[in-house]
Amino acid sequence: MLQSFERAATTQCRRSITVTGVVQGVGFRPFVHRLASRLSLCGFVKNWTGGALIEVEGELAAIDRFSAELQTCQPSLIEIDGLRVAAQRPRGEAQFRIEASEDFGAGVVVVAPDIATCDDCLRELFDSEDRRYRHPFISCAHCGPRLTIMVDAPYDRARTTMARFAMCDACHAEYEDPQDRRFHAQPIACPACGPRLQLLEPGATSECRDALARSVDALCAGKIVAVKGIGGYHLVCDATDDTVVRELRRRKMRDDKPFAVMVADVAGADALCEVSAVERRALTSPTRPVVLLRRRVDSAVADAVAPRHTLLGVMLPYTPLQHLLLHDMPDRTLVMTSGNRSDEPIVHHDGDLKRLSGIPDFVLTHDRPIHLRCDDSVVRVVAGAVLPVRRARGEAPRSFRLRTPLACPTLALGGHLKAAVAFGEGRHVVPSHHLGDLDDYQAYRAYVEAIEHYQRLFRIAPHRLVHDLHPDYASSRYALERAGATAIGIMAVQHHHAHMASCMAEHGLAGPVIGVCFDGTGWGTDGAIWGGEFLLGDDRDVRRAGHLDYVAMPGGETAIREPWRMALAHLIHAGEPIGRTSIARRIDADRIGTVEKMFERNFNAPLTSSVGRLFDAVAALVGVCDHVTYEGQAAMALESLASQVPPDWAYPFALLAPGDRIVVDPRPLIRAISADARDGIVPAIIARRFHSTLVDIVATVCDRVRAVSGVTAVVLSGGVFVNGILARDVSDQLAQRGFRVYRHQGVPPNDGGLCLGQLAIAAARDAAAGGEAG
Ligand SMILES: [Zn+2]
Ligand SMILES: [Zn+2]
Repeated sequence: MLQSFERAATTQCRRSITVTGVVQGVGFRPFVHRLASRLSLCGFVKNWTGGALIEVEGELAAIDRFSAELQTCQPSLIEIDGLRVAAQRPRGEAQFRIEASEDFGAGVVVVAPDIATCDDCLRELFDSEDRRYRHPFISCAHCGPRLTIMVDAPYDRARTTMARFAMCDACHAEYEDPQDRRFHAQPIACPACGPRLQLLEPGATSECRDALARSVDALCAGKIVAVKGIGGYHLVCDATDDTVVRELRRRKMRDDKPFAVMVADVAGADALCEVSAVERRALTSPTRPVVLLRRRVDSAVADAVAPRHTLLGVMLPYTPLQHLLLHDMPDRTLVMTSGNRSDEPIVHHDGDLKRLSGIPDFVLTHDRPIHLRCDDSVVRVVAGAVLPVRRARGEAPRSFRLRTPLACPTLALGGHLKAAVAFGEGRHVVPSHHLGDLDDYQAYRAYVEAIEHYQRLFRIAPHRLVHDLHPDYASSRYALERAGATAIGIMAVQHHHAHMASCMAEHGLAGPVIGVCFDGTGWGTDGAIWGGEFLLGDDRDVRRAGHLDYVAMPGGETAIREPWRMALAHLIHAGEPIGRTSIARRIDADRIGTVEKMFERNFNAPLTSSVGRLFDAVAALVGVCDHVTYEGQAAMALESLASQVPPDWAYPFALLAPGDRIVVDPRPLIRAISADARDGIVPAIIARRFHSTLVDIVATVCDRVRAVSGVTAVVLSGGVFVNGILARDVSDQLAQRGFRVYRHQGVPPNDGGLCLGQLAIAAARDAAAGGEAG
């Protein structure tokens, strides 16, 4: 084929190059235009739903050079997954051009995430000579909102919420000029043609000219301001002012969950926290996540920002508006927390502002709509590597590749808390951003809306749904109802298997592996609540090689909110007298009596092997928390304590082996902790010893499993592995014993990562079924 065209035209040839990957909204077409022009090639580039299509015509050597540089010299935000080259008949064109997008309607669309304001734009923002001086909506081909302003694909201004703003002549000239860094940059605007700021306050709206200045004044005067961001509103106040931070907690109805803060730059973060080189890179990355940093003892942040926490969530400005705010309030630290009440989704539509009523004193808004709601991403650095905690703005909708293809387009529905869904077609997987906890009705509605929006944007019509085995998860019910209504395929996947498979998928592992999956709650195949699991197998199937011994959860779900109940459960299990613990002094005798009766009568006390619940029990035993307001709170408190003292030794535990399954008996541990607590050992030391015990447990059980299976690869997953001490020490200990250890890097170890694992399992089962069929 190639030869026949070239014989017809010996000097000129033409190639079409189909590019897949993150190429829309990241300055790809301008880059291609410059490259082609430099190599004197003619032809065109255009977006299509699956990526970009290029045709180049010219001398063969120049075309080869073009193909090579396309892959090696592209700007950093572009991620090319694949190139497909085909010969075309030369047309004798005169120049290279950027063509309007076409909607081909097929293939997986790849959309860029929202990108923090770039350095070039920042220079202009603060350059009084520039025409975009202090323009709160400055952006270019390399920065600005993307996913959150897209109404439909492919990515063109007409399909974004910028469509309502007609470009002025000056902006249009930049947009059309191949030499300009705003060439074909979709969201560009300027003070003459762009969106406007507006300050809403009770009873009045001020002119846009001083909306920013008045917001700064309000913040300095100890007021709360809602500020429109990229994926929704933030609630903002002075983080050093204890009174206003407490007031924000009261109005937001948020008791204990830490607030994130924003500082102007890395120096600002340094003043509050210890910042390592890797943490610095995370802070300044184009994603601009909230980075959980170790707080300095003398940091000037009000106690109410992150009560009793040694970690502080810190982020740097990522929108021009945030840069302006922090610039105009030098050396300030601002609370920058999601604009919502309690557990509701973040408010992103101006029409929804009433949901925030009574919280902010002022609202700093503008007329560029946010189409898709998206929270800030959260990461922490563990043992020198970034660990995702919440995957949202700036990360979504980055895609993953599966080891083997899915047999049909598939939607994975994730879990119940920290929900996220993932769309898969072939080997391509797009996990959604964080969609919140589905207990809340508003959150559930947002979850369904997000599924519908992603389907439209990514042009995926799932033929199959994958959901968690738990029948009462809102996500499982969604799957069952939708499958029932449309008769599409459905598959249920065990919770901890999905955790394990998600970590395997990130690392492209085929297995077999030992999956150490520790979390709070997951439905087990025996109907018990699992969460301290050692799985052995691959992404298709697993065997439960070991687990933490079952104890009762007195009161079921109530035990999650009241850790003292789990302490009682473990004490009774260990045969320890409750009267000798401090719990007997803090908790009413009647309530303790009620729980004891639940045990005697075996009433409302489901069995659990959860390590998360063991953390709860230990936290109550040492008197750190008897009640919690959010999942993982007790574990975070224990980690904070443990990080304050060096390790000394670990507590004992026992292994039981009924059949071929190893059961970890926590009774010796509980007895030893009770004894330490009675002896007046401080909670920090007990917490540290408890962490060391878990490390010993993981290492010992993995050794046993390796001895019988020969498997040396271990993946660590489940929400408990957000715990930095545990993730680091378990990894070190296993590595010392000759295991290959894999942790999460792309999706969170918590339930936010389930959707990727669910798709990986579906694909592995498809491959096996295909193999059997063939
Ligand atoms: Zn820029
Ligand atoms: Zn303009």
